[in-house]
Amino acid sequence: MGKKQTLLAVATAAAATLGFAGSAQATTTVTGNHWDIGLAYDCDAEEFSAEGLHAHSHDTDPASELELADTVFQVSGTSNSIWESTVFGRAELPLKTIGDGGTYRVGLSVEAEGACEAPAVTFTSGAVTVPVGGARVAGYRRGESDGVATTRTRFDSATGTNRNLGVTIADHEDLRWGFTDTGTYRLPLTATASVGGFPVTYRATLTFSVV
Ligand SMILES: [Zn+2]
Repeated sequence: MGKKQTLLAVATAAAATLGFAGSAQATTTVTGNHWDIGLAYDCDAEEFSAEGLHAHSHDTDPASELELADTVFQVSGTSNSIWESTVFGRAELPLKTIGDGGTYRVGLSVEAEGACEAPAVTFTSGAVTVPVGGARVAGYRRGESDGVATTRTRFDSATGTNRNLGVTIADHEDLRWGFTDTGTYRLPLTATASVGGFPVTYRATLTFSVV
């Protein structure tokens, strides 16, 4: 009897694993609207919510939320602006982009749920998967009040001076994303913060499909 219960428990765990894998295949393809990738912080519980790194709609109330493992952000816009030139060099223009000034955005955020300030979160990316050799993706900010075409690169799959720098955010930052080639790009994101003096880490992969 005890052994049967153990076997049943194992079978149930296996089914749960398969169920999770099955749901992960039901991919949502996003083609518009303002999304932010980030963490929600529960002010009462004084901890980040258990859902971890997810995509959160910026403009809808209540917000829609998407699991990053089940979500692909499709990119079809094209740009050859000074911002792309500054990050990638003129020879790469035009690039496929998602703008930080248009209606379709993929930014970063830390959301406080309740009356408090959420801890600052540092986002970094591990090694990026690109569709073909030499393909490159970067997430960057356009220059703001300095009046010149400077950019602040946050993520960049290229190595060298424009390497993956990451960014620390206390609330919200929209990014512009540029891609040199069509195909699928996967950025393994890590979000780290300190809660009550203890480090916390969340991981999820951000996927773009450039068409
Ligand atoms: Zn945003």
